[in-house]
Amino acid sequence: MSDHRIPLAGVIGNPIAHSRSPRLHRHWLKTYDILGDYIPLHVEGDDLEVVLKTLPKMGFVGVNVTIPHKVHALHIADQVTDRATLIGAANTLTFLADGKIYADNTDGYGFIENLRQNAPDWQANSGPAAVFGAGGAARAVIVSLLDAGAPEILLSNRTRAKAETLRAEFGSRVTVVEWVQAGNMLEEATTVVNTTSLGMKGAAEFRVPLDGLRRDAVVTDLVYTPLRTPLLDTAEKMGCTTVDGLGMLLHQGVPGFERWFGTRPEVDDALRRAVLA
Ligand code: NAP
Repeated sequence: MSDHRIPLAGVIGNPIAHSRSPRLHRHWLKTYDILGDYIPLHVEGDDLEVVLKTLPKMGFVGVNVTIPHKVHALHIADQVTDRATLIGAANTLTFLADGKIYADNTDGYGFIENLRQNAPDWQANSGPAAVFGAGGAARAVIVSLLDAGAPEILLSNRTRAKAETLRAEFGSRVTVVEWVQAGNMLEEATTVVNTTSLGMKGAAEFRVPLDGLRRDAVVTDLVYTPLRTPLLDTAEKMGCTTVDGLGMLLHQGVPGFERWFGTRPEVDDALRRAVLA
């Protein structure tokens, strides 16, 4: 019997109403004239496993997973990529034909591809990277920077213990810096990354002193609401190359879309406009 089901994908989270992923994937489905859909799915933690086991029976080929389910999803999966294991969380699940769940984490990939696309001269190995924050997003950023060849990660977080945990996990190329001295990291850093929620609309301001920023530094902020954060504004005025965080969101979607729908999609201005609309 032939299978005429329309391939479905989606994003599972709680809350999920404000996710931009449906706009992202629907733009690609339309651009490449692919029959399929991408649906936001509000799922409670206790229901995650049963939902993931049921979705393939309804025509789902895969899902993105977001807060608060990224770590749980990794444990439910049958097969896990090395990068998802290292990061300790999954954001992209594919439902395989044999019923197994294949888990990946594409956040670090999205982070690096965003820098490569928007700061083409950026080299991970040009010098130490300064990373502000030690939450879930920082894990993906640190794993991908180390993998890309950053010689050292200077890491500072308000709660020092969390930064120490990451240092213990990711090794001697990570150096923890006290939060009150975070500005000192900038004197050496050729890559600067804000992975905290500071500077986000509705959150506290990013108050780390920036006078130590090097002019040859590439500065990026994972916060993308607003698109031009005060960190990026200041860095740009000081002559640094700056890259906003929206591109990370766009690029992290590429591997999942390709796996689910069979076409490798482009990240371009039309996509940015569609997601920002
Ligand atoms: P998370 O796990 O909750 O971590 C939050 C981080 O922000 C922690 O390091 C936390 O420090 C720090 N922080 C929060 N409030 C602070 C304050 N008042 N002062 C100093 N530090 C503060 O969140 P996450 O998942 O890592 O996400 C972090 C940010 O990245 C969010 O804004 C998220 O939207 C953004 N993000 C963007 C993308 C993208 O594609 N562009 C992808 C993932 C995440 P403590 O440990 O001391 O609490």
